[in-house]
Amino acid sequence: MSREWERVQAEHKAVILPFLSAVPVKIATMARALDIEVKSATLRPRISGQIQRSESSGSGYRIRVNRHEASTRQRFTIAHEIAHFLLHREFIGDGIEDSILYRSTLSDAREAEANRLGAQLLMPEQSVVRALRDYGGRATPEIARALAERFEVSEAAMSIRLGLG
Ligand SMILES: [Zn+2]
Repeated sequence: MSREWERVQAEHKAVILPFLSAVPVKIATMARALDIEVKSATLRPRISGQIQRSESSGSGYRIRVNRHEASTRQRFTIAHEIAHFLLHREFIGDGIEDSILYRSTLSDAREAEANRLGAQLLMPEQSVVRALRDYGGRATPEIARALAERFEVSEAAMSIRLGLG
């Protein structure tokens, strides 16, 4: 796992780990298991998602995801916002909004961290290695397409994960 994963609190890791052995990863259920509310919503154009404080949520946070975007995209957005919750809670303040480029008022470095950890939550190392082995072990664009379908992520996200991006 990534250096971002090393920074995740032990109690959160314990909640997340069981979800990482299933393909596709049930990312919204994972968020709810972390006591984060997840809602799909109509957000402003060019906003993919947001995480903000919520009184009614066990963790104190709520994720909203733009329901007008593709489902693979919504899954990545949820994973990205979970990563902000895990890594950047003290910087979220009253809330942050992520653009379609996953940029927000947080620094680009923190956005890159959320993308890396989010990708790992959706495409866990062990599952990717195992799935790749089913296809002969070597990553090609065709195999990236097949794995993207299996993991319910975009081809672009899987290509990056396989080092083809
Ligand atoms: Zn972000």
